[in-house]
Order: sequence, then C-alpha cells, then structure tokens
Amino acid sequence: SSGNMLSLDMLEIIGTGNGGIVRRCRNRQTQEILAVKIISLDFQKNEKKQEIVTELNALNALHSDYIVQLHSAYLYENSVHICTEYMDRGSLEQYIGILVPENVLIYITLSMIQGLICMWNQKIMHRDVKPSNVLVNSSGSIKLCDFGVSRVLETIGQKVATFIGTHKYMAPERVISDDYSIPSEIWSLGMTILEMGLGRYPFQAESSYPPLAVRPIELVQCIVYETPPILPTIRGYSSEFASLIQQCLSKNPADRPLPRSFFENPLLMKYNNSDMNQSRAIMADFFNRTAVATNATR
Ligand code: ADP
Ligand code: MG
Repeated sequence: SSGNMLSLDMLEIIGTGNGGIVRRCRNRQTQEILAVKIISLDFQKNEKKQEIVTELNALNALHSDYIVQLHSAYLYENSVHICTEYMDRGSLEQYIGILVPENVLIYITLSMIQGLICMWNQKIMHRDVKPSNVLVNSSGSIKLCDFGVSRVLETIGQKVATFIGTHKYMAPERVISDDYSIPSEIWSLGMTILEMGLGRYPFQAESSYPPLAVRPIELVQCIVYETPPILPTIRGYSSEFASLIQQCLSKNPADRPLPRSFFENPLLMKYNNSDMNQSRAIMADFFNRTAVATNATR
C-alpha cells in the first residue's frame, strides 16, 4: 500500500545526512508536529519509486514504545517524503561528550534492545544502528529511527553517506564480507553505548590527523583488529555493565550476547524491573537538563 499524502506546513530543517534532509513540520489537519525526511528520487523509474513507498509503508505496522512511529510515506515532487513522530530532544549524537550516568546509559541500552527485538520479530533488520538514529524526547523515551531507510537508499543505488559514516558502526564481519545478521546489530548497539560512555568515538588511529578523525583504511583496520576501550570505571561505570558492552564488541559474532541475555543480566534487570515511570522520569530529567540549544527552545 502507499501512504496518504499529508498536508504539511514545513518548518525548519532539523538535520541533513543519509541522502536527504529532515524538517520539522505541522500536519494541517491535526496540528500535530511531525518530522519529515525528504529523499530525492530523481532518475528513478516509476515502478521503483512505487516499490520504495510500498516497502516503507509496511513499517506502518510497527508499533512500539521504542520505535519512532511512521505516519506516512508517499511520493511528492519526485521525492519520497517519510513522515514520522517528532522527537523533541534530538538524537544521542548531540549528547556525545556529556557525562552520561550509568542508570541513564542502561536505560538507553534496554530501550535500544527492545526496539531492535521488536523489528527482528517482524524479520526486519535495522542496518544503520548509530547514535544519530537513536532519538530522545522530553518525556524521557528513547526510540530507534531510520529502519528501512538504508534499504531504500541501497535500492536506488545511492551510497549511504560517506565512507566513514557508513563504516563507523559496522561490525567486522560486515566490513570484511558483507555478512550481516542480528549479532552485527548487537555490535552497532555496543559501539553506540561505548561512544556515549567514553564521550568520543571508541577507535582512534594514533597516526591520524586531525587527531580525532579516523581515516577510512585505518578505520577498517581498527574495527577488524583493534581491541576497543572498556567503559571507564573512572566515569562511574560498573564492571558488570562494562563487560556486557565489551562482549557486544567481540570480533567473533558468535561470542556476542544473544538478545535475550540482556534480560538475563542481573544488573540490567535491576533497572528493567523497577518502575517504568520512574525510569522515564530519570531519563526526562537527564535529557531536559542537558538539552542542546537547538532543541531546548522548541
Ligand atoms: P543521520 O542519521 O545520518 O544524522 P538523518 O538525515 O537520518 O542523518 O538525520 C539527520 C538528523 O535529523 C538526525 O541526526 C536527528 O538529529 C534529526 N532527526 C531525524 N529524524 C528525527 C525525528 N523524527 N525527530 C527529531 N529529529 C530527527
Ligand atoms: Mg538518521
């Protein structure tokens, strides 16, 4: 099926990347604030465009507290418009460098794994798990976005962002041989959490310049051969949590934790079993306090 075209008032641009731009907008019928991602489909055959829209709208059926809700995807002026729930505290990428307490990081981990499990149950792989695809709102919810979008970009033959953007969160087996499965997504989850905990991207090639950047070849070498750092106890992380994240970053996919082991981990279960409203309040407090200027005033 193809989604209903929405009548939208376009507001400001929230971000660019991944072959398109994202704008905040208002649904004229309902006055609801949404986000719309606009990807140009110039030079695509009409059947292909329709195929893309149909495939995206299948994601309408996904409903989860841990997944950004799709409202509608449709063709407009030679572009695909993907309208989703608007998340008013932006993405995790905007919080890198801020000290994230362990309870907040555990709640993020649990939210991400719940969102992923929901998708895996529907036989959908995310394919692009990274900090900018984990969104936050002022009620303290953490949700995954952009599932299916990288598939769309692959379908139209558009390279997903730059080489570095594409590879930074990729598991070694995907970098080497394009093997891709659930453990590869567990790796990307581990990289995302480790980056939040360290306050910087985990791998740093020593010889690279500028110092914080990793050049493409070195990046692949790091992913395949280097041992990533461990969540620092000096920043308040427990060895239990650090070792779970370390296990997510095992070079051998078979050594990574299974999805269900996140719910068998005593430390994580301490947070999962506690009152959900309380966890959400802790999250809301953290993200509202550290809200980045661009989102805080909206
Ligand atoms: P990337 O994920 O590579 O940064 P995108 O084009 O997917 O590129 O997104 C650009 C930015 O737009 C994201 O980093 C995020 O901050 C913001 N964004 C995307 N979708 C939403 C949304 N539904 N609500 C709020 N912000 C969003
Ligand atoms: Mg994105």
